[in-house]
Amino acid sequence: MKLKDNFNRTHDYVRISLIDKCNLNCIYCNPSNTLAKLESNKSILSYEELYRLIKILVRDLEVKKIRFTGGEPLIRKDVMKFFEMISSLKKQYDFEIGITTNGTHLLDKLDGLKKFGVERLNISLDTLNKTKFIAITGKDFFDDTVTAIQKAISLGFKSVKVNAVVIKNINDDELNNFVEYFKSYPITVRFIEYMPFTGNQWDGSKFLSWREMKYQIEEKFSLTEIESDGKVSKDFFVDEEQLKIGFISSISDHFCDSCNRLRITATGQIKNCLFSNPSEVSLKSLLSDESISDETIVEFIQKSLQSKWMKHPSADELAVLNQNNMMSIGG
Ligand code: SF4
Repeated sequence: MKLKDNFNRTHDYVRISLIDKCNLNCIYCNPSNTLAKLESNKSILSYEELYRLIKILVRDLEVKKIRFTGGEPLIRKDVMKFFEMISSLKKQYDFEIGITTNGTHLLDKLDGLKKFGVERLNISLDTLNKTKFIAITGKDFFDDTVTAIQKAISLGFKSVKVNAVVIKNINDDELNNFVEYFKSYPITVRFIEYMPFTGNQWDGSKFLSWREMKYQIEEKFSLTEIESDGKVSKDFFVDEEQLKIGFISSISDHFCDSCNRLRITATGQIKNCLFSNPSEVSLKSLLSDESISDETIVEFIQKSLQSKWMKHPSADELAVLNQNNMMSIGG
């Protein structure tokens, strides 16, 4: 049975946060001076609970894509054992596995991830300048991240996307550097509009819309629009090169009418929209209790989806919302 909301949107894509901690302090996500309270004192879903949840999603709810996020998912202890567990489900059910990662702990795991059936990698990289990388993230992992991206490309994953959050006067002068650097690679570079989250000091003066970004790139490269992958980004080919670029316009031009995503936080709460408050009840208590049937869990997930709104509130309203910490949501 399909997972549908009140607006008849089928949800076949679930993003699951494996951990609500990150090893970087990116200024737009997890600034070190953040006031947001992370729920790291609550226990997170165990690998066994996650396995049960994923099995229910792909077997009973026709979910076709699972993406693991964080925090930074690859810093969770024994994470490769978890991917090995999940790989057994891949043999029985038709779904894809992706990971969104900051790339800092990716390099030595790439071979294993490929072996365990991970097909899609989204890797964050906001700058091509090492000094600026340290200023944005608070840490010196530039070389590890860039090397991991290069190896991921050479291993031939089904999809490699490099994600850059674009902030005025921070990295908006680098758009064409990204295009130049990656233009001969068969990957996608996605430029993401800066979004308001609790503690990230979002304000309109730091915001650059996707149209402004595109205009800047077109001063140097010609772009040909192509059908977008998943409707989340507006995608283009660059000149005659292999590179695709995409713009994620969550703020200036939302794509909520085609939303197919559901999020599960690391502690097992359902967030039916990136910007909504999570459900008060955690799936954890259900998943850990063998006397609770899979049908009951299916009903719980379906019910949680019924309160989903049609589209997210305006950027100014979002900027004052509490409980919207990017790191505990999983992006
Ligand atoms: S803002 Fe919410 S409703 Fe809109 S696309 Fe994102 S998750 Fe879906």
